[in-house]
Order: sequence, then structure tokens, then C-alpha cells
Amino acid sequence: MKKILYLAILFALIFINPIYASSNFNVTINNSIFKVKSAGVEINGEKLNTEFKPYIKNGRTFVPIREITEKLGANVNWDNKNKSITIKNDSKIIKMQIDSSTVFVNDKKMSVDKDQVPKLTSYKTPRSETKTMVPLRFISETFGYDVDWDNDKVVATISTIKSANLSEEKKSNIQKVSSNKNTNNSNNSLFYQSNQEKKETKKLENNLDSGKKEEVFDSLSLEPEDEQKNRVIKDKLQVNGKLKIVVDPGHGGKDSGAVAVDTKTLEKDLNLEVASRLCSILKNKGYDVIMTRSRDEYIKLVDRASVSNDNNADLFLSIHFNSADNPSASGIEVLYASEKNVKIKDTVQKNFAKCLQKSLVKETGANDRGIINRPAIAVTSKTKTVAALVELGFISSPDDLNKIKDSDYIDLLVRGIANGVDDYVNNYTE
Ligand SMILES: [Zn+2]
Repeated sequence: MKKILYLAILFALIFINPIYASSNFNVTINNSIFKVKSAGVEINGEKLNTEFKPYIKNGRTFVPIREITEKLGANVNWDNKNKSITIKNDSKIIKMQIDSSTVFVNDKKMSVDKDQVPKLTSYKTPRSETKTMVPLRFISETFGYDVDWDNDKVVATISTIKSANLSEEKKSNIQKVSSNKNTNNSNNSLFYQSNQEKKETKKLENNLDSGKKEEVFDSLSLEPEDEQKNRVIKDKLQVNGKLKIVVDPGHGGKDSGAVAVDTKTLEKDLNLEVASRLCSILKNKGYDVIMTRSRDEYIKLVDRASVSNDNNADLFLSIHFNSADNPSASGIEVLYASEKNVKIKDTVQKNFAKCLQKSLVKETGANDRGIINRPAIAVTSKTKTVAALVELGFISSPDDLNKIKDSDYIDLLVRGIANGVDDYVNNYTE
């Protein structure tokens, strides 16, 4: 009997709220037990304190609906009969249903990927209770709020205040809580990197760490670091004359990039095809376009960034297709390197990614994986100007690949990118 009591106490101790920033714990969802990782949530620089911890499952952060909607200044209604949720703020109404990927935003039918489906989650701690959990990023971004992810601290940071209206005090506060050094991985991204890219990126970071900083900065045509200390971050990009955009078809030559599920389609060829068509559209629109490669050749990542820096380009855009072990991973995402993480940047980066992502999804109807801050990517983080990397679909997914192999679909992708560029130029340049 005593033994059982000891075990019970031990059990209780294990499940008592941990002091650590992040930890694993078990929850029950649809009658199965899952180990999940606890996540922090900060809204406008303030920690979201919830009795039941937000958690990460399959790379998605889930939060108890009541607490998050309150904090975002929204209202929530729960329909027990249909197990459906209505979340409302001044501008949007989101309707979701437990275990369903179908979502209505202002009555428009949409779908979320299966890892973002709302769930009834049973907690054991702080006590046995079942909570309605919703995907944090989807809710926040649908309401138009910015979500940043800090992988080191395992904290999602949400800002509901438009940056232009922020008081300086609040701004520095938000900057402080969301700034981080080495965000090597976003929790949402399945971003594919070739072995060649991994090698190069590692070497580059090693050189930066080992006192060869000046050499690296010089090779990238970047000013020495101490001259960038007093940077002022601007929302809008200053463009003088004709806008100059560098289009970078990923991989090439000995680096084939991802190999498709059909074992013959190579990412490097698709990237070049998209980039070539994009180049002519952008030129027709009156932009100045520079390609980092226009044939099947290998170009180092730093050299791609240098093309942008040397030419004082206004925009840098890297074209890629994605790949993942899980064949059901699908859809489009746009990666960027936040100016909060990358000191050489002096313009807000995510707006370009946002415009591209929105336009790409609109044009193609592809699964919307969102925009993701990945400051460790060489081409976006070593370019001075506004940069983004588009992942135009998973060639590891038979469904995505089928579409991608259709020339008409490539045209949709190209048009999506081109319209996204226009959208950025119209709204975020001066
Ligand atoms: Zn790639």
C-alpha cells in the first residue's frame, strides 16, 4: 500500500508544473496519449499565463481557446452540439469545428492542414480537464497579427499592434522579447536543404564565429559590423529609380536540390524553369531583373548573396521546391530572415514574404503553410536588402508533384510570385 502511495506521489511530482521554460508532457487527444512539448506565448510583450499549457504537436502550437481569444481581444462562442467554435473580432469571424480541417473565415470556406485542426485535449495537470485547443498561428494570422517564433526559447510572440502606430517604448519592449540570436529552426517549417547547402551554410557560420568575420563581410560586400550598430529599421523600402530585383533559382550543377518522388524530376531544373519564366514577366512589368544563374551550373550561396549586395539590389528572391520525409506534407511556404535576427538588414523583411505567400496561395489554391522566419538561411540572411525564399510545393508529395509537372501550373506559380512582387512594391516601397 505504501509503495502505491510513493508511486502516486512520484507520479504527482513528475506532473507538477515544471519550472523550466519548456518541457514535455502527455495529453490525450481522440483517445490516444501524445507526448507534446510545452510552448510559451507572448502577446504584445506580455506573457500569456494559462492554467493549461499551450503545446507544440507536429510542429504546430496549440493554445486553449478561451485564454487566447480573450488576450487577442476577440469573442468566442462554443456550440456543443456541433462541436464548433466561432471566434470573432472587429474585422473577422473564424468558424472552426473540432476534428475538422474545414474552416470558414467571414463565411469563406477554407481548409487548414491536418496538423492545424482544432482538438479536444485532455490534460492531467494541473488537474484532469478537457480543453478546446486551437492552432495559434492560424488564428493570429487570420486576424492579421504578426507571429514570430523563437526556437531557442520555445516562445511564440504575437503583436496585435501595427508597427507604424507603436510607441517607441512598446516597440523596444516587443523587440526585446522577440529578439533572439540563433533561430536555426522554425517549428513549422519543413524547409529542405541539400547536403551541399548544409555544408556551405555551416562553413560560413564557422568562419563568422572564428574571427574571419571581416573577410566574410568583405566577400559579401557588406560594411563592417560596427558600422551597423545604430541602424534604424524602416517599414518601407527606399527605391531609387527602377526597382532592381535579383531572382535566384536554387541549387544547380552538382547540387541537384531535392529529388522528386518520381525519382527523376530534380528541384534544380524546376527552380530554373520558374525563375526563367518569372524573369521575363518581371522585365515586361518594367523591373530590372538579375538572375544568379540562367543555366544548370553550381553557384555558392555566398556568391548568390553577393550578386544582390554588389548590385545594390532592392529585392532578392530565391526560388525553391520543397521535400519532406512525410509524403503527405504539401503546400507553399515563404521563408525570410527577420531584421530582428539579422543585423545587416534595415528594412522589415516579413512584408515581402507575406505578399508573396498571399498571392501564391490565391493564384494556385495550394495548401497555405504560411510565412516562416528562418534567420539561418544563407541567401536571405546574407543579403542586405529585403529578401525571401519561396518553397513552391513538395516534390516529395505525389499530389503536389502531379500539379507541378503541369506547365500551366508553373505559370500559375510564376504569376503568383509576380503579383506578390507588385503587391509589395505598391504597398511597401517609397
Ligand atoms: Zn531547395
